[in-house]
Amino acid sequence: MNQKIDNRLELRNIRPTAMRQLVYDVLDKNKKALSLYEIEQQFEDVDRSTIFRTLKTFQDNYLIHSIDDGTGAVKYALCDEECTCQPDDLHIHFLCTKCGQTNCLKNMPVPKMDLPQGFSFESANFVIKGICSICRK
Ligand SMILES: [Zn+2]
Ligand SMILES: [Zn+2]
Repeated sequence: MNQKIDNRLELRNIRPTAMRQLVYDVLDKNKKALSLYEIEQQFEDVDRSTIFRTLKTFQDNYLIHSIDDGTGAVKYALCDEECTCQPDDLHIHFLCTKCGQTNCLKNMPVPKMDLPQGFSFESANFVIKGICSICRK
């Protein structure tokens, strides 16, 4: 398989297996966030739980991040190389209400969080809804 994929996985301390290479490739090629169901559709004979475990490993090692865009299905997208999914690394996502696709807006970091005293950060989902450039044409 592709050496570039192996390198990306190894950088995140993920041992490259055939399954992991394939799931990474799907996320890399699509250039948008995908749900578990959408990823599953790209494979013929792969068990959903195998894909889910692969995504979990990726997420635990900051290779991907998950997005709750309010559609009910969690979506996944690749992180940038230096991302550690801390508040400073988070960006805003854009959900197209026409095609239902969610894109990472990596040049739009989430606003600085100034939580009240005693509150601790866990996760954040900043989602803008609108019509994407493809649907506007
Ligand atoms: Zn769209
Ligand atoms: Zn993203």
